[in-house]
Amino acid sequence: MLTKDAAVCIRTVDYSETSQIVTFFARVTGKISAIAKGSKRPKSAFDGPIEIFSHGKIVFSGSNKENLATLTEFEQQPNLSGLRNNLFALNCCLFGAELLNGMTDDYDPHHELFDSFMQFLQNTGDAKNKSEMLALLILFQLALLKEVGLRPILNACANCKNDFHAAWSQSYFSSSANGLICRDCEANFQDKMALTKDTAACLANLKLLAGAQEKTLNEVERILIYHFTELLGRQPKLAKHILKG
Ligand SMILES: [Zn+2]
Repeated sequence: MLTKDAAVCIRTVDYSETSQIVTFFARVTGKISAIAKGSKRPKSAFDGPIEIFSHGKIVFSGSNKENLATLTEFEQQPNLSGLRNNLFALNCCLFGAELLNGMTDDYDPHHELFDSFMQFLQNTGDAKNKSEMLALLILFQLALLKEVGLRPILNACANCKNDFHAAWSQSYFSSSANGLICRDCEANFQDKMALTKDTAACLANLKLLAGAQEKTLNEVERILIYHFTELLGRQPKLAKHILKG
């Protein structure tokens, strides 16, 4: 049976001299891995080797969890060119793709997450500076957590549920609590990280990300990287390119 879908490539691995195994995030199907036979030949059915972030209509067969699907068609749309011109933008998107791959299961559809990811790639390619790129990455990471059912509690203490207030003298983020922690509750959470006032304010009110200083955005991103590291059980590979970048 052939399945058609709109999809974006989030990972490629060389399989042989001429073929690749490609992981797609597809709008209706969810994440799938497919073998693209002959994709590295100059005249392939897929317009040459398949690169990460290439996107368009795919057709594949053998869609079940046990077997690798076979890609039969890939009608590539024009590339998201902005990403190729800025290394930090590219690293943000590669990091987003790594997290998307790590946090989702095969054949588990997430239409909204597909749309958010495509928008994230487009906007990051168009972004003018590093702060804008970081803010987009942070919002995508939070959209990803929400879509996989792990939306963190950021506007109140995740433990006692008291609303966050800018006058709090100190606040924390705890991965095990899945959110902000107030000073009264912090002793219960070994894994907490202390937040600066600006970082806590940004997390509690995401609208502040747009005007935040790069230093604050880096701190928010450091918290999210720690959180994803806990969730995945390992540090994401691309994380080091985001914080030093
Ligand atoms: Zn509390």
